[in-house]
Amino acid sequence: MDQGLLAAVVSGSARLTPEQGLSLYHRMSLPELGRWADARCRQIHGDALRTYVIDRNINYTNVCSAKCTFCAFRRDAEDHDSYTLEHRQILHKIGELAAIGGTQILMQGGMNPALPLDWYVDLLHAIKREYPQIHVHGFSPPEFIEFVHFFNPPGATLEEKILYVMKPLREAGLDSVPGGGGEIFAPAPRRKIGLGKCDAESWLSVMKVAHSLGMFTSATMMFGHIEGYADRIDHMRMVREKQDAALAAGRGHYTAFISWPFQRENTPLGRVKDWGMNQAELDAEFPGDVVARAYDFGRNPEVDHKALRPAAAEFGRRVRMSGASDYLRTQAISRLMLDNVYSIGSSWVTMGPHIGQLGLAYGASDMGSVMMEENVVSSAGTTYCLDEAVLCRLIRDAGFTPAQRNNRYDIVRIHDGADSPDLQVTDWSQHRARKMHQEMPREKTEPLTISIAKASTLQEA
Ligand code: SF4
Repeated sequence: MDQGLLAAVVSGSARLTPEQGLSLYHRMSLPELGRWADARCRQIHGDALRTYVIDRNINYTNVCSAKCTFCAFRRDAEDHDSYTLEHRQILHKIGELAAIGGTQILMQGGMNPALPLDWYVDLLHAIKREYPQIHVHGFSPPEFIEFVHFFNPPGATLEEKILYVMKPLREAGLDSVPGGGGEIFAPAPRRKIGLGKCDAESWLSVMKVAHSLGMFTSATMMFGHIEGYADRIDHMRMVREKQDAALAAGRGHYTAFISWPFQRENTPLGRVKDWGMNQAELDAEFPGDVVARAYDFGRNPEVDHKALRPAAAEFGRRVRMSGASDYLRTQAISRLMLDNVYSIGSSWVTMGPHIGQLGLAYGASDMGSVMMEENVVSSAGTTYCLDEAVLCRLIRDAGFTPAQRNNRYDIVRIHDGADSPDLQVTDWSQHRARKMHQEMPREKTEPLTISIAKASTLQEA
């Protein structure tokens, strides 16, 4: 890789092409990639502060009309452990967040056809009435697309229909839209893993409408399953192009990009066999790479998959899981590719605290959230627990001063004094982060039944 080009990328005077981004996966060592990504991060954010936010994930329902194969969270309405929170329960959770100095909620759910639009509007009004200081980061693009399907709003185009639904939510108190459901944009893997979930164009349309209403959003990517490396680069390319348009329009835009590897436990996709378990597979190209190459970063949208056989015969039937090095590599490349996105977030929720901390040396400027509650990733078998003191210590031990931010990435508090949460801990051997709250299905009352045998006994009695 041309060192002059990378120096120009670091300074912000050059942009990587998709081909150049892909070559970083194959031609650059991880430490070298980390050095370039870190240099770019320092160019944008300086050397002093690295940030985090205190928020709470509120998953208001696990009933979902989609059946994503990587999801362990969703339930059908009739399942014994399905739930939909009542407004008062959601407000109670927000009260707990406000009590510890939290600044935002991340509110996402399954896509529950039983909830009318008024349910959401009334909820937002109630939140803003009781907790006007809390930022509502809510309802990911797939939810908005399902709202369009559920509520059938008027409009000649999808964007007009989205606007019809989004506007009352915005007016009722929705502050920003999270990038959930981004998964992987490339159509071939997306179709296979996201059953019932919106396609990439629809996802991007929701964000375009959110930006037009002045909202700030994030973008996400879930990788390390059936996709090829070129699909990841193409995902970043699409975010970058849409961000160019959003910035030119001058309303809202993407503030952050967060990527993480697929978590396999308790998911249908997790039962798919790993690639490379025999010599023939080790000698061959991963099918996801074969398919991704044929699409040529979206320049060739009509690919005949049959023509790609036998090399792609196992596409979708094998996963290539990501470990720590692939995660750090992907995050570092995202920092170099996404020259127009302010923040890259590390994902301690999926990778654990110490890889999340290491992410700060691989292009990430933000450690994400002190989460009081998380239900989706933990459903897939990954549960890490950090409180504010631990998160601050991780950032400080990585060589930075921890700073609490809000959703707009404005600094709320800089922890450079003795009253910093981590510096107040006098004995780390005794310090334990409290286990995260996890949404438990409410007890369901089983209807009383009397079997035929018991009924006859009763009659005899
Ligand atoms: S990932 Fe989201 S949209 Fe997909 S099934 Fe799970 S809850 Fe539903």
